[in-house]
Amino acid sequence: MNSVLMSSLSWVAYQERLQDGELVLLLPCGALEQHGPHLPLGTDALLSDAIAQAVAAKVNGLVAPTLSYGYKSQPKSGGGQHFPGTTSLDGQSLSQITRDVIREFARHGVKNLVVVDGHYENQWFLTEGIDLAMRELGAANPLRIMRLEYWDFCTEETLHHVFPEGFPGFALEHAAVIETSLMLHYFPQLVHLDVIPDEKSADFPPYDLYPACTHWVPPSGVLSSAKGASAENGALMAEQITASIAKAITYEFSKGHNKPLC
Ligand code: ZN
Ligand code: MN
Repeated sequence: MNSVLMSSLSWVAYQERLQDGELVLLLPCGALEQHGPHLPLGTDALLSDAIAQAVAAKVNGLVAPTLSYGYKSQPKSGGGQHFPGTTSLDGQSLSQITRDVIREFARHGVKNLVVVDGHYENQWFLTEGIDLAMRELGAANPLRIMRLEYWDFCTEETLHHVFPEGFPGFALEHAAVIETSLMLHYFPQLVHLDVIPDEKSADFPPYDLYPACTHWVPPSGVLSSAKGASAENGALMAEQITASIAKAITYEFSKGHNKPLC
């Protein structure tokens, strides 16, 4: 079995892997952000990396080192910037580092890149970095990029199984059932089930205020209860999500298929 970690290869071994024109490089993107008292600050980075590694093993891919800092935590999706430990980038910084590493991957000869986002707030700044890189590389460059938020691959069937009483939506899932279950699956030693708060779900108005109203956010930083989390559901979601991502990558990047789905 080939190693899936780019950082563990020599440049010579990396260059050899790139000889396979179908090689897929995956770039996990996370954040350093509070995830309640029961999950580590690095949760988004750890999960995007773990998922990227599992996908890489299925598609003979390679995983680049994770972008471990992300865009600013928002009250309604990550609790906000007022928590100790939450350490965020300006949007422009994230876009530029994304552009810079993509430009380097293109110089190496990478043709298929998957940006695996694990932090809700990153989305448009990663998109901007991808767009800046693509514009700079020009239409003749063979690099093709897929960007995804891993939770979007969760099927209705899986969500129904994990949330028999109804799914609260991905934004409120911060430090809640999905992330806690996935962490129990991939990094059980980093989860502290005994300190999961017993609070009501956050109830936000349909607007934002600046400066942020920190009293909108539960003091624990958990936006909806993680009480229903389990390692079994984590394993189920991990398997289904990584299989679905691998399928999409194979569909889009395999030889002979160069057209987008739409
Ligand atoms: Zn998270
Ligand atoms: Mn996040």
